[in-house]
Parts: sequence; C-alpha cells; structure tokens
Amino acid sequence: MTSSPDVLQAAQAIRPYLAELLELPDADAMRQRLELALSATANSTTQQAEIRRVLSVAEPTREWLRLYLEEQKPAAEILSLIRTYQPLPGKAGTVESPRYVCPVASCHQTWYRRDAAAEVPNCPIHGIQMVRESKV
Ligand SMILES: [Zn+2]
Repeated sequence: MTSSPDVLQAAQAIRPYLAELLELPDADAMRQRLELALSATANSTTQQAEIRRVLSVAEPTREWLRLYLEEQKPAAEILSLIRTYQPLPGKAGTVESPRYVCPVASCHQTWYRRDAAAEVPNCPIHGIQMVRESKV
C-alpha cells in the first residue's frame, strides 16, 4: 500500500460520516483518534500511515477509505454506496444492505453485506461470526 496525499483529504472528508458509519461510541473514539493523527507533527508519511491504521480498524470506515482513494468516489456518495445492496444486474432498484453486528453485546463491530455472495465475516476482535441485525 503506497501513501498518497489524498489520505489527509480522506481523513477530513470522512468526519461528517463517522456517526453514520459506526456505532456512536466507536464513532466518537475514531473521531478523536483521527484528530490526534491529523494534529500530529510527525512527518507526513507517518501521519498518513497512522490515519490509514485508524480508519482500517472498522470495516465500514476501511471500505469508505477504499472507495474514496481507490475508486475516487465523491465523499457525499460513499455512504449510500456502502449502505446500498447491489441486486443482480437487471433487477430494478436497490435496497439497503443488511447490517451485521458482533453477537457480543459490548462489541460495536458492524459490517454491511453489499453482495449476496459475500461471506459473513468473523468479528475481528472476538473471532466469532457476525449476525444479521434484526430490524427494529
Ligand atoms: Zn466482537
């Protein structure tokens, strides 16, 4: 993975969306860690690596960063891309991606299934398979 100046832009651009991407305690924690990384006086390579590390902790923000940097999607569109389930080609419309959560109550890892063929991952912290969140 090479560093790019756009990582700094990404860190700024993602901030308004953190509360949508993550559960609240995680969103707050990540915002603080990002601010810390952004205000660090380390050289920019270190700073960019740190920002990538912070954003890679959770799947939704890691995916956000990937869409922003690699697919060059506008920040305003990424949230709906992450949230939108892509049905098979030819089927009209999109529905919201099912959200999966870690079954451990105190854990706030989330994952959006955007592709019906995608395997449900294990929680990166607890190593147990994530479960579909029941709709309220
Ligand atoms: Zn967990």
